[in-house]
Amino acid sequence: MKNKITIIGSGFSAIAAACYLAKSGHEVTVFEKNSSIGGRARQMKKEGFTFDMGPSWYWMPDVFERFFADFGKKTTDYYELIKLSPAYRVYYGIADFITIADNLEEIITTFENIEKGSGTLLKNFMADAKSNYDIAIKDLVYRPGVSPLELITPQTAMKVGQFLSNISKDVRKKFNNERLIQILEFPVLFLGAKPSDTPSFYSFMNYADFGLGTWHPKTGMFDVVRAMESLATELGVKFETSATIEKIIVENKVAKAIVVNGQTIHSDVILSGADYHHTETLLDQEHRAYSEKYWDSRVFAPSSLLFYVGFNKKIENISHHALFFDVDFYQHAKDIYDEPQWPKEPLFYANFPSLTDKTAAPEGMESAFFLVPLAPGINDTEALREEYFDKIMDRFESLTQQSVRNNIIFKESFCKNDFVSEYNSYKGNAYGMANTLLQTAFLRPKLKSKKVNNLYFTGQLTVPGPGVPPALISGKLVSELINKQFSEQ
Ligand SMILES: Cc1cc2nc3c(=O)[nH]c(=O)nc-3n(C[C@H](O)[C@H](O)[C@H](O)COP(=O)(O)OP(=O)(O)OC[C@H]3O[C@@H](n4cnc5c(N)ncnc54)[C@H](O)[C@@H]3O)c2cc1C
Repeated sequence: MKNKITIIGSGFSAIAAACYLAKSGHEVTVFEKNSSIGGRARQMKKEGFTFDMGPSWYWMPDVFERFFADFGKKTTDYYELIKLSPAYRVYYGIADFITIADNLEEIITTFENIEKGSGTLLKNFMADAKSNYDIAIKDLVYRPGVSPLELITPQTAMKVGQFLSNISKDVRKKFNNERLIQILEFPVLFLGAKPSDTPSFYSFMNYADFGLGTWHPKTGMFDVVRAMESLATELGVKFETSATIEKIIVENKVAKAIVVNGQTIHSDVILSGADYHHTETLLDQEHRAYSEKYWDSRVFAPSSLLFYVGFNKKIENISHHALFFDVDFYQHAKDIYDEPQWPKEPLFYANFPSLTDKTAAPEGMESAFFLVPLAPGINDTEALREEYFDKIMDRFESLTQQSVRNNIIFKESFCKNDFVSEYNSYKGNAYGMANTLLQTAFLRPKLKSKKVNNLYFTGQLTVPGPGVPPALISGKLVSELINKQFSEQ
């Protein structure tokens, strides 16, 4: 039977869900508050430069393939992927960096050259990380987080210890060199918590990094949004932009309609891909499943200070992705999670898409994206943004040994206040609720409302968690729950 489904938001999880639900024969409309789709992965084109506004690391290519395969398609039907070589570079001092190659063999050699014996240790670490990847990403994350039993399998039973220990401890048991330790702790930062608060089992992120590699869609991450929009449109999904949902109307504990730009639209099911906390504020108090106290007590992924910058020359001594770990890694983590404040000495990340994609900047120029992770909920002012831009530019110029400041011809910032105003993000989080042990699987906010029938949620605050691949999976999981409800009616 054809049901009418309303989807709030147009991030990856929402578009993925829209595709699955339309494929099942439902009439699906996606309502997005902003003027373009893609959520945190929107694209900005300004003065000849093109910027992906959010995600830039295309990891876990198998998850994207699996998504398109569910529709009888391949990623190559929509976009071309380039494997980045090198994958990235990590700066520790002036002209002092480690380059991560695009294959494990070379990375093992790099490790061995830095710490004798670490090559073999890395090989063994990666074998375990691969086995965790096979268990988690090929199976566990495709379970809807309804019951704790989902996590109990013969494979996880053998790895209980890895749920009780953490990545930081595990890596330190094996490696001594601080630089190598930080490189191995880096991938779990994508999950939103400190490595010391992230279970060892999440070493599958290291396999995603060193084992599967870092990819780049030919003209940027937005290629994936465009691809999913095309697929959704082929399947009959309708998109409405500049359409802010103001209220979800509930009658007798059943979600009945949304109010969008003052108009009431009825549907059989309402699915929200907007931040979970915000969506609950669209409900009257008695229909909200989680209290303000609950949200406040969760560990959220960092917010971020971002700069989109256009340079009128090519930049030297960089790679497509560059991490600047030349200051105290652990102090910055403390400034995010333990004693929230603007970091004295910020770590930062930069990417230069125009190194790989000539369309990202005018000829002879460079487009760049700089990111400083910050505590969610932090005080955000223009003056602080500028102060930190100066701080990171000073370091960037010194570490990469060149002057670039006078070559900036375009610059726009984005920070906590923008995450709130643009995406209705709780405390201005950049990428959702962290995956800690107590915020994993069935312990995360539920896909199906606990209080209101016919109301569902998807995205980075629910299962499986933050990141683009999990968002695709989240869309699939919620569509399966919705279809299950219809089949039981
Ligand atoms: C700076 C940054 C860097 C990142 N880097 C990476 C990376 O390199 N690799 C990676 O895999 N992941 C990365 N991520 C994480 C990844 O982008 C997200 O996890 C993912 O895109 C989230 O998708 P989503 O569907 O959950 O939500 P979102 O993308 O947040 O979509 C939610 C949508 O809902 C809309 N909305 C909100 N309220 C309303 C309303 N009332 N009415 C209508 N619409 C509404 C919002 O405008 C938004 O479009 C990054 C994120 C950020 C911000």
